[in-house]
Amino acid sequence: MTSNSLRDADIAYALHPYTNAVAHEQSGPMVAVRGKGVRVYDDAGKDYIEGMAGLWCTSLGFDEPRLVDAAKRQMEALPFFHMFNHKAHEPGIRLSETLVQMAPVPMSKAFFCNSGSEANDTAVKMIWYYHNAIGKPEKKKIIARLRGYHGVTVAAASLTGLPLNHRSFDLPIDRILHTSCPHHYRYGEAGETEDAFADRMAADLEALIEREGPETIAAFFAEPVMGAGGVIVPPKTYFAKIQPILKKHDILFVADEVICGFGRTGKMFGSETFGLEPDIMTMAKALSSAYLPISAVLINEKVYQGIRGETGKIGSFGHGYTYSAHPVAAAVANETLAIYAERDILGHVGTVGPRMQARLRRLADHPLVGEARGVGLIGAVELVADKATKANFDPSQAVGPRVVNHAQANGVILRAMAGDIVAFSPPLVISEAEVDEMFDRFERALNTVTEEIG
Ligand code: PLP
Repeated sequence: MTSNSLRDADIAYALHPYTNAVAHEQSGPMVAVRGKGVRVYDDAGKDYIEGMAGLWCTSLGFDEPRLVDAAKRQMEALPFFHMFNHKAHEPGIRLSETLVQMAPVPMSKAFFCNSGSEANDTAVKMIWYYHNAIGKPEKKKIIARLRGYHGVTVAAASLTGLPLNHRSFDLPIDRILHTSCPHHYRYGEAGETEDAFADRMAADLEALIEREGPETIAAFFAEPVMGAGGVIVPPKTYFAKIQPILKKHDILFVADEVICGFGRTGKMFGSETFGLEPDIMTMAKALSSAYLPISAVLINEKVYQGIRGETGKIGSFGHGYTYSAHPVAAAVANETLAIYAERDILGHVGTVGPRMQARLRRLADHPLVGEARGVGLIGAVELVADKATKANFDPSQAVGPRVVNHAQANGVILRAMAGDIVAFSPPLVISEAEVDEMFDRFERALNTVTEEIG
């Protein structure tokens, strides 16, 4: 139990991200005090399996001493320096080198930011800058997807295709468009195969491009697997049908690897799992196992050449954050990437991922579960009022949030997303036994809510 003074101070002074402030005044916070492996402990000592790895991010669990040591060593050697105005430091240089070399398609340069949102905002600005540089100033519109999630800063929130991130914020901004969401279960028509559905999604995209004028469309943003929009795994042929359309109309492809990057889908990048050939990649979260904030934008040679020329003309690339490539965060990221390689994190995900997917798929028979889906160590169940018609529950019943609250009481932290979708994205270091424990705890919660709603 949170001590009264801490609970009261939280309610009095903290505005929480992604929280209903009215409800919070009653509920107060769950206060975590320490973590070990895939677990966190609250201030009463209760343990929780962190089934979301925080926010899809603490890939190496909550007590990796090598990351602590890497941070300490860098803090002692050089706690801050930057990469503005021709300056540099070893962690930033090494991280650039490693990421460009790791990229699944040829990339040329790495640029660092502090969050996924900043990485996507930076990508938008680079795309606009690039098109001015190559003499196509009219090619500025950017297409993202309904239910895509790219962050919350002004441009990134505009890319995000979720009403909660637009409503009352006066977003999206101009020049950002949304095309259809490739979720076959929800948007497929009766009898439509996944492949035919993928054709329709590609046709929707092309129709939007034609309507707007291909000469005005600069880029297309996509997560390999949509995360916060509901863990939506695209049909197998979706990206194979989308990419030729982008190429045909000379549209840059940005893969948002903020969740999928670094093993989440079973390959190092979601782009490999789904055959994406992006011009730009954004990444964050598992880049440092979330121990410190750092994100990256990788650009290919074509984009680099455009930007390079413009900086020569203008005199400088007028973009960069004080903490771009922060040396301590970069050192932690370098250590994280070294650990992935040494411990064969992909091999591990290859072992535990199938266990998690099997446990998820078993839930498809549960009376509340409309669809159980996922790949690697990311997945979700979509809860429905009627399995045959796929009818949603009335949002006022808050079925997803109730399941997640019961799960938390049962000792597993999960996330409910719009549409009564419950997501799973545990630390990549989770064991098979811990996967089972996570699902055992979750199933108890699901059964409790099933009884409650009769
Ligand atoms: N892109 C994706 C795919 C994400 O899932 C997120 C965050 O969850 C972001 C971007 C934004 O990252 P951040 O919250 O670090 O700004």
